[in-house]
Amino acid sequence: MSAIDRLAEDFARLPGIGRKTAIRLVFHLMKRPKEEALRLSGSIREVAETIRPCERCGNFAETDLCEICSNPGRDTSLLCVVEEAYDVGAIERTGQFKGVFHVLGGRLSPLDGVGPEELSIPHLLERVGSDAVSEVIVATNASVEGEATAVYLENTIRPLGIKVTRLARGIPVGSDLEYVDGTTIAEALAGRREM
Ligand SMILES: [Zn+2]
Repeated sequence: MSAIDRLAEDFARLPGIGRKTAIRLVFHLMKRPKEEALRLSGSIREVAETIRPCERCGNFAETDLCEICSNPGRDTSLLCVVEEAYDVGAIERTGQFKGVFHVLGGRLSPLDGVGPEELSIPHLLERVGSDAVSEVIVATNASVEGEATAVYLENTIRPLGIKVTRLARGIPVGSDLEYVDGTTIAEALAGRREM
C-alpha cells in the first residue's frame, strides 16, 4: 500500500470522515507547504504522548491530575458526572460551574454489553463515599442511554444520603452536550432539579 493510501485510510477511520473526504484531505496536505503537514503530525504526536486520563476524574490531563482537580479553588462537594471527557469542556465553557467532575467513559447500554463495571461507576461510588460530596449533578446526554444512566446513578447514589440532581430541560432531547451552546447549558445547570 502506498503512503498516500495509508494516510487516506487513517483519516477515513476518524469519526465523520468518509473515504472521499479522506482522499481530499491527503491531496490538500500534499498541495500545501510541507511545514503544514509536519506541524499537524507534530501536534498529533504531542497529544498522543502527553495527554492521559486524570487519575481522579478521568478528564484529559497532562499530569497525574487535570487542571480542575489540581485547582484548590474548586468546590469538591459539588460533583458533576458526564459521559465523556469532551463534555467537561462543554460545561467549563459556560464559566458557571465551580465544582469538580467525574467522567464515566460512556453510558450504560446493556444491549452492547456496557454495564456499570465497564464504566468508571465503581470509582465514582468510591469518590462519593470518601470525598465529602454533598451533591451529584448528573449531566449525561439527553439520549435514551443517557437517561437510563442517570436513573441508575440516582438509584445508586441517593440511598447513600447524597442529593442527586439532573440538568434542567432545555437540552434538546437526543442531543449530545458537546453540540449544545454554552448559554443553554448554563441555564440547564442553573435550573437543575432534584431527581
Ligand atoms: Zn481531574
